[in-house]
Amino acid sequence: MTRKFGLHHVTMLSNDPVETLRFYREVMRLHLVKQTVNFDAPDIHHLYFGDEGGRPGTLLTFFPFTDAARGHVGGGAAAAIALAIPAEDMEAWILHLVEQGVDTLGPTERFGEAVLRLEDPFGLTLDLIGRVGIGSTAHPVLAGATLLSQAPAETEALLVRLMGYEPAGEERGFRRLVMPGSGQALDLARDGAARPVEAGAGIVHHLAFRVPDEAGLLAIRAELVALGLDPTPVLDRRYFRSVYVREPGGILFEFATDPPGFAVDERPDRLGASLQLPPELEPLRADIERRLAPLTPAG
Ligand code: ZN
Repeated sequence: MTRKFGLHHVTMLSNDPVETLRFYREVMRLHLVKQTVNFDAPDIHHLYFGDEGGRPGTLLTFFPFTDAARGHVGGGAAAAIALAIPAEDMEAWILHLVEQGVDTLGPTERFGEAVLRLEDPFGLTLDLIGRVGIGSTAHPVLAGATLLSQAPAETEALLVRLMGYEPAGEERGFRRLVMPGSGQALDLARDGAARPVEAGAGIVHHLAFRVPDEAGLLAIRAELVALGLDPTPVLDRRYFRSVYVREPGGILFEFATDPPGFAVDERPDRLGASLQLPPELEPLRADIERRLAPLTPAG
């Protein structure tokens, strides 16, 4: 069976919901496609950004824990998120970022492409990749991540043998694994990391991979169990069904179904317009709304 586990979404920690919204909409030009709460901690938001329709594979999501201190990148996490822009737009993006007061590094060349590096307001490293032939797009498109594994060979084996990633060379200590047909690549640090990650603002919480349906989710879960890993049961995340697993290198992976998607509780042309709660939390809406940090600037 051919495996195709391109990225579904990546989820990060931040600490200021207003600043998270401002940066990812105004600076990174993504669309807010859902505002909901962390289902496991409903007094904080879960904000989803992506393309206009919030399609799987375009999504960056954030838990803005308002009291979170800044984290430290280390083994067992992604160290950077890659976003592709049309190569011909690189100059315009540099000017836009300067206008927005964002410091950038580069562009430098990585695996044959120009890469402009910047940090979000919480310390997360973002790599803007100038890509030839992706056509015109106003917003960047999720293109992969840089991974710091505590067991790089085992992480690579899982990605290649179980998930269908293909090795595509090595450069400056990073092994590139590509998912054919997705435009996405994972760059795995060959030597791993000396220190483990310290969770906090600016840290990637997990990477989620696409699964077509719930049968596929159960199949991958069974294979993870057969490998001696310890996946969660299938969880209902409202917009997808999920299984989480801590891979051997310490990175939290999620497998998430494409359906039902974000139109399950909002009109497709109104995605992200208002706070959405799953049915089991709806009776608590008044309490939850009172405890949530406001999404609009004070004053
Ligand atoms: Zn997730």
